[in-house]
Parts: sequence; structure tokens; C-alpha cells
Amino acid sequence: MKFITYNTKNFREIEYIKYLPASVRKEIDIVSKVIPFKTNNYVVDYLIDWENYKTDPLYILNFPNKNMLRREHYEKLKHAIDNNHATSEINQLIFGIRMDMNPHPARQMTNIPVLDGEQLKGVQHKYRDIVLFFPSQGQTCHAHCTFCFRWPQFVKELDIKFSMREIEKVAEYIRRNPDINEILFTGGDPLIMDPATIAKYFDALKTANLKNLRNIRFGTKSLTYWPFAFLPAFSEEAQDLLDLFKRITDSDFHLAFMAHFNHPNELDNPVVQEAIYNIRQTGAEIRTQAPVLNHINKSAQTWSAMWKKQVSLGLIPYYMFIERETGPYNYFEIPLAEVYQIYQDAIKETGSFAKTVTGPVMSAAMGKAQIMGVSGNPVTGDKYFIIQYVRHRDHKKTFQPFFMKYSEKATWLTQLEEVKTELVKPAINDASLN
Ligand code: SF4
Repeated sequence: MKFITYNTKNFREIEYIKYLPASVRKEIDIVSKVIPFKTNNYVVDYLIDWENYKTDPLYILNFPNKNMLRREHYEKLKHAIDNNHATSEINQLIFGIRMDMNPHPARQMTNIPVLDGEQLKGVQHKYRDIVLFFPSQGQTCHAHCTFCFRWPQFVKELDIKFSMREIEKVAEYIRRNPDINEILFTGGDPLIMDPATIAKYFDALKTANLKNLRNIRFGTKSLTYWPFAFLPAFSEEAQDLLDLFKRITDSDFHLAFMAHFNHPNELDNPVVQEAIYNIRQTGAEIRTQAPVLNHINKSAQTWSAMWKKQVSLGLIPYYMFIERETGPYNYFEIPLAEVYQIYQDAIKETGSFAKTVTGPVMSAAMGKAQIMGVSGNPVTGDKYFIIQYVRHRDHKKTFQPFFMKYSEKATWLTQLEEVKTELVKPAINDASLN
């Protein structure tokens, strides 16, 4: 099958688009000037239920709608376009809206490491044992998700991209930091790169003969957005890619895919199932992760069904995230209390094999904060979230439970109040010793 990309310029060529009312097509035109939009023929033909597109989770995942922008932003932009304002004025307006959408959540710019006085602009080193590598050729995806927290990577004008090609410098940085044992290729989607390019990166790491580097990960949504990449019968390069995966696992590296699945519908067709089978035959493992998103997967039944399906296909549920405070998060966010309830109900329903999942987790400025539970103080009647960092910038601070005041409405860690009562403090200290 041929890969056909559609973006803002040519999406009207998609056959189904003609069934969308003119008002919806116009909305897509306007909103996609702010939120990066890209789809392809697999997503359109295999994943979206066009008869019910308005509520279809995969349509909402991939196609922007006007509720994803703040009302005043949408109206201003629409007004400027309808009244033929100058392009420079419209571009300035778009830039302003984007800057209002918190393009740098969790202080990502502070994670850039330095080697011999030079900032490695395509690397992030936040946690002791792992570096993230953003290869220049992998900074786009087969299609874009409307909720994506990496959206600035796809916006030319923001000029705040992480990306580099000089893998030798990354290898040297890893060599000089012996605690690092993992590299995560990320993006965008690094598996959008052709097999020869990925092979070049891998060979450079292998040749560097780094005693400390044992694990290679790829963060990817290719299994949802272009599973043909792993089917030799459909794509000429697929066999090369599978052969490369086998070569990596045969070289004594642990190879893992951090696959994004947001909804069980992404796993429900023979193409993705064959792709999963082929990857697993190479000795690689596939771990899964996704955020809980309003309008897409906000129910325990959806998560339980997704985890059950993943386990039956040999995937390993890994992270359940909380939507980050960036981009159109107002549309997707869900209160922490509700997310925790969804997690609890879903995990109870799923059975033993999904207990590999860590959730729900916020990728916050200091690290990955997991909500472990909700507890009450029988003396005061107050309620608390029990939280721990399963990853922390300061490794010593991982896995130390602490309490934050319970809130029905808060959607992010920074909206919670610290607990300072004497009554609770000893409990924090006791727990941190365990
Ligand atoms: S595939 Fe990943 S990086 Fe690409 S748009 Fe979706 S969430 Fe963002």
C-alpha cells in the first residue's frame, strides 16, 4: 500500500472529507493553522469511523476542531482570515496564540546536557540512567495527534526544536556518564526514519563500544499511524527494518518500543496485529503508554479493554499518563481525582498481566509523579493524594511517598497544595524510609 500524507494544504483530497459539512472543513482549516495537522491514508481508511466521526476517538485524536482552541483565540483568527487580513498579521496572531499554549512544559529546556562546552541540542538528560535522543530525521510523525505535548517540534516558526545528527557526540556523552544505561530515540517518531538512517545511528553506538549502554528504546506511534512499515509484503523497506531490529537484539542490546496507543480501536485490525507479531519475532519487546484524554479515552472500560487487548497481543502495558499542560490541554484535561478513579477501576478489571503499568503519572518539572492513592485523616477529616516520583531529577528523591491536599478540580501537580500539618509530616517521613 502506498503511503499518502495529507496536511492542511491537501487534506481536501481525502475521499471522505467531502462528506464533512463545509463548516467542519473550514474549522479544520482555521484550527490547523495553530495546531499541527497531518494525517494519512491508513488512518483515514482503517481507523476512523466516518459515519460517526464527531464522536469517533480516532477522528478526535487526529483531526483538530474549534473547541481545541480557546474561544477568543478561535474567533480572533477566524475574523482575521474571513476579513483577509495581511498574511504577516495573521502569522503574528498565530505565533501569539501558540506562545499562549505553553510550548515548553516541565522545563524541558533545562534538560539539555553540555559536552566540552557545547550544548547537545538534540539530547535531554533528566534522569540519571537514560538520555533522550532527538534524531533530526525523526522529528515528524506519520500523522499528528491533536493532544501532542511535543507539538512545538512540528512548528517551524517556534524555533525551539530539539534535534541533532551527531550521534558520535551523544556516544561520547554517554561514555563520560557511566550511570547512563539507556538511550531513547524520540521525536516526533524516530521510526519515520528509513532503515538505513536508523542503522547508521545504531552502528555508531555499537562501534563506540560503550560498556554502560545496554538498552535501546524507540518511542513510536507507527503501529497506529503506519503499521505497514513493519509488513514486508506491503513495504519494500519493512524487511530491512525488521532485519535491523534483529541485528540490534542479536548484538546483546535490550530493544524496546515505547508504543503509543490511545484507544483499543487502534489494535483492532489485522494490519497492526501482524506488525506487532513481526516486531516481536525480532526479539524486541513492545511496551505501551498513553495519556488519559477527555473526548478520547476517558473511561475505565476503555482502558481495561485496551490493556486486555494489548496483553493478548503480547504487549506490555507500561505508563498511564495524565495529559500535560501544553497545547490544547484545556480540551483534553481531566481532574486528577477522576483520572485516579479511572486508573483504579480499569486496573481492577484487567487482571494480573496489566499490573506492569505505572499510573496515573504526571511528567512534571521535577520528574514523573505517580498518584498512588487517596487517603483521609480520621482526626481532621481532611483528604490527601498520596504521590511519589517514580522518576526524579534527583535520583535520591525517587519512590518517596508524600501527601498533597486532595482537590476535586485540580488537573496538575502544581495546582495542589502541599500538606504542612504536624499530624501528617511524620507519616511522610515514615513512608519515605520504607
Ligand atoms: S505520534 Fe507522538 S510525537 Fe507524534 S504527534 Fe502523536 S503524540 Fe506527538
